[in-house]
Amino acid sequence: MTYSKIRINPISPEPANGSVLVIYTGGTLGMIYERKENQLVPFDFQQIIERVPEISRLDFEITFLSLPEPIDSSNMNPEIWIELAEIIETNYHEFDSFVILHGTDTMAYTASALSYLFENLNKPVILTGAQLPIGVARSDARENVITALELAAAKNGLGHPMISEVCIYFNSQLLRGNRSKKKESSDFNAFHSENYPPLATAGVRIEYNLPYVKPFDADSEFIVHKTLNTQVAFLKMFPGITPRVVEAVFGINDLKGVVLETYGSGNATTDIWFLSAISKAIERGLIIFNVSQCDGGRVTQGQYQTSKFLEQAGVISGSDITAEAAITKLMYVFAKETDKTKCIEMLGTPLRGEMSI
Ligand code: ASP
Repeated sequence: MTYSKIRINPISPEPANGSVLVIYTGGTLGMIYERKENQLVPFDFQQIIERVPEISRLDFEITFLSLPEPIDSSNMNPEIWIELAEIIETNYHEFDSFVILHGTDTMAYTASALSYLFENLNKPVILTGAQLPIGVARSDARENVITALELAAAKNGLGHPMISEVCIYFNSQLLRGNRSKKKESSDFNAFHSENYPPLATAGVRIEYNLPYVKPFDADSEFIVHKTLNTQVAFLKMFPGITPRVVEAVFGINDLKGVVLETYGSGNATTDIWFLSAISKAIERGLIIFNVSQCDGGRVTQGQYQTSKFLEQAGVISGSDITAEAAITKLMYVFAKETDKTKCIEMLGTPLRGEMSI
């Protein structure tokens, strides 16, 4: 597959202070308003300097690469996640860091999926996007892109990257990717991470929250995983849910795992039919991962009678994981492991800082 690439050389006479590969996947950010047609059209990255002239003042080298067909992120899928992982693998040694321009709708899923696909990542991979297209006067795109680039290029006194994990940068906050969630469809502060503090905050200066940042580890070998298993589903509890709905989901042919979205600290109805559906599904080999519908707090199975039976039946607690990180974790774990006991062990263990134990 061929991609169109453009390189922007810093105008500073000093040698470039690092290199960033920017991968454009689509989304609102990359749209401009076309007067003639009176519509938003995808932005041609050849014109990036025209739209974001500040880029040429950054003292590092930037290369832009666009997916052959930029997409609205609602069309994102595991094949494209693997394509993105392969692009980063191919370019891992050539560039110091990576910025992915992505639609906001599924950005938290992509960030979570990539976090699992990259084992021992030691360079920044920062996703960003915008609520308003880059061609609109009040757009948040410029600030998001410029600061994401600065964060990607930032190094400490030892010359190591300040950040060496998959993150989302949006509206002044750098968040761990697999802890993030889109919470707003209209305000500029589109993302939050309820159960893990921001890794950095960009004000007049960029303040890093170092105790929460994954440490750089020069000795670990970077491994890119290239398979995901989509034999997974969500089942969201609601008062009034019927046996037909639950049985329809649990009865899906070849299904390996379900993210059960429960109430509060991991609770669900104790109606006999539901207890029996859960027990039978687990006996048949289905793995059920308990994730709370609340953004903040965590699943504590056994705290209430309404979650004790889940624990006893063998449902796995997702602790404080997000639904986005949970479904992508199932995809990753089932692709990597066929042994059920090992899958259960991996699901209950933080693999990339996506959950607290
Ligand atoms: N629908 C768009 C997308 O996710 C929204 C955005 O970019 O903010 O691609």
